[in-house]
Amino acid sequence: MKVQIEKLLVLQDKDARLASIQSQLDEIPRHLAQIAGEKAAAVKRLSDARAALKAMEEKREAMRAERRALEAKVAKYKTQLLETKKNDDYVALNGEIDKFTKIASDMEGGEIEFLFKIDEANEAVKKLDSDVQNELARLDEKVALANEAKAELDGMLGKAQAEADAAMAEIEPDYAAPYKKLKAGKKKFPIVVQMRGEQCGGCFLKASTDTLSKLKKPTGPVMCEQCGRILYE
Ligand SMILES: [Zn+2]
Repeated sequence: MKVQIEKLLVLQDKDARLASIQSQLDEIPRHLAQIAGEKAAAVKRLSDARAALKAMEEKREAMRAERRALEAKVAKYKTQLLETKKNDDYVALNGEIDKFTKIASDMEGGEIEFLFKIDEANEAVKKLDSDVQNELARLDEKVALANEAKAELDGMLGKAQAEADAAMAEIEPDYAAPYKKLKAGKKKFPIVVQMRGEQCGGCFLKASTDTLSKLKKPTGPVMCEQCGRILYE
């Protein structure tokens, strides 16, 4: 009986290792998805900044078009001025010309100020572009590392599975059956536990007199009545 318990403990070690490799493998897709999310966010930051810059350039174009339309109006008034006969009309037109010339000049001042802002935004986008490229390169490195880890874990998994299978083949059916049942029931490891005095080493509840006496002279696997784990002294 003792030999079967020892073999079960070996199997349990192999299975725990297998589970650890599997859980590390299961983490990788989540990790890769997180990196993909970070990459998408970085790309979006850059494209948002570029879109904002483009909007500024379009606004600047619109400002210039508006000023030019006003300047065209002034030019037209100046032509009309040459053809004006009446003094009143002449004065009125001249007033309009002065007014619109002043407005066009103010508008040009506004355009120049705005141009400085565009230059600043342009520099900021250039800086951001370089930062984002660096971040993307860093994230790509993380992806490469995760893929390397995955390849390594895949190799380890195959080997660990073969070792666990070999360890299972060593176990007699009456010991293998409760072990498989506990494992299939997703019982938290360890599932083969040493007694702690009169307590189960898994659930820490006191074992019955019957269980305790079975443990003294086992004729087969002895299970905890509370949690079902396989017990040994
Ligand atoms: Zn128990």
